[in-house]
Amino acid sequence: MKAAIERAFRERFGTDPEHVVRSPGRVNLIGEHTDYNDGYVLPVAIDRAIWLALRPRRDGRVRLHSLDEPDPVDFSIDAFGPSGEGWAEYVKGMTRALLDSGRKLVGWEGVLASGIPIGAGLSSSAALEMAVAAAFAAVSGFAFEADAMARLGQVAENDWVGARTGIMDPMIVAQGRAGHALWIDCRSLERAAVPLPRGVAILVMDTGTRHDHASSGYNDRRAACERAAGRLGVSHLRDLSSKDFETRAGMLAATDRRRARHVVHENERVLAMLDAMRGGDVEAMGRLMDESHESLARDFEVTNRALDAMVRIVRSRPGCRGARMTGGGFGGCAIALVDAARAEAIGEEVRDAWEAAMGGRPEVFVTRASKGTSLV
Ligand code: ADP
Ligand code: MG
Repeated sequence: MKAAIERAFRERFGTDPEHVVRSPGRVNLIGEHTDYNDGYVLPVAIDRAIWLALRPRRDGRVRLHSLDEPDPVDFSIDAFGPSGEGWAEYVKGMTRALLDSGRKLVGWEGVLASGIPIGAGLSSSAALEMAVAAAFAAVSGFAFEADAMARLGQVAENDWVGARTGIMDPMIVAQGRAGHALWIDCRSLERAAVPLPRGVAILVMDTGTRHDHASSGYNDRRAACERAAGRLGVSHLRDLSSKDFETRAGMLAATDRRRARHVVHENERVLAMLDAMRGGDVEAMGRLMDESHESLARDFEVTNRALDAMVRIVRSRPGCRGARMTGGGFGGCAIALVDAARAEAIGEEVRDAWEAAMGGRPEVFVTRASKGTSLV
């Protein structure tokens, strides 16, 4: 990928780039829709990434091409506003967040290529935000501090793009660690890197269906969680154990009750998953992933037919320990925990079974835990 993005830069700008940034996507092993409830998550940065080659500009402009988009992003750091709904908003939003944090920014121009499917739940948006932050850091001479950059990524997505997403995505993208998942307490931001147990692998299966987080579904779920927390007298659903919740759940309207039930139990599943990972209990890990999916399908209602079908298909394969949708839902990818020795074979079996049942061959790949956004 590095050679390819350098070549793309040379074709467009006639020189070598001064910097190349790599910014990965992520899968979340468990803890879905818990981050904005101040809860726990357990994501992994993956070996699919956005690659951005760039050089500084002296005129205070940002000009960025994406090989996935017909139109470049082009604006002046001193004076820019929103321009609609396209990918420019992520770049501008990140720029605005960095400026508002007091950082002095130098302009730059570049080109990006991505191996992360867009809108598929693998967080191409946070990968883009963190790539832009790292580009500014490289040319402007400030440090890419992962925590600070992640928070500004969330600000960009919330305030400029208008998707009320949580801290998980920019956090894991900015500070993933090879071979490890990252447990994060989204309230205190306490975290722990946990190695993936030996002998298992993560399979990513793209249903080909897509979500749009800037539209209503995601923000609706968040509003339901906030309503439920308010009604139950806590600041966030994170503050309730499943026992507390079940005794008081009767106070909630039926739909909000199911939404809140998912979040409260999902938080406990993350802690159970952490124990299972540390103990190398692969069976428990798989079971928790299965339970998470059922809860997201039945109570939180953010799966779709394709995600449910994909999970069903992979679970029927020998060597699959558990499977669930990953990311915000409403389409995109599922993941499975599979025996490493069977991982590629299971991938092929899933493609075949999907083709027979649903038509078309889905993209399915084994992924590895990789490091977070960095210059290469
Ligand atoms: P996800 O983060 O699950 O992939 P989002 O809807 O949160 O989906 O973010 C996707 C958006 O991020 C795209 O609509 C686009 O604006 C931007 N984006 C992601 N990857 C690229 C890319 N390679 N080139 C240009 N824009 C991208
Ligand atoms: Mg996103």
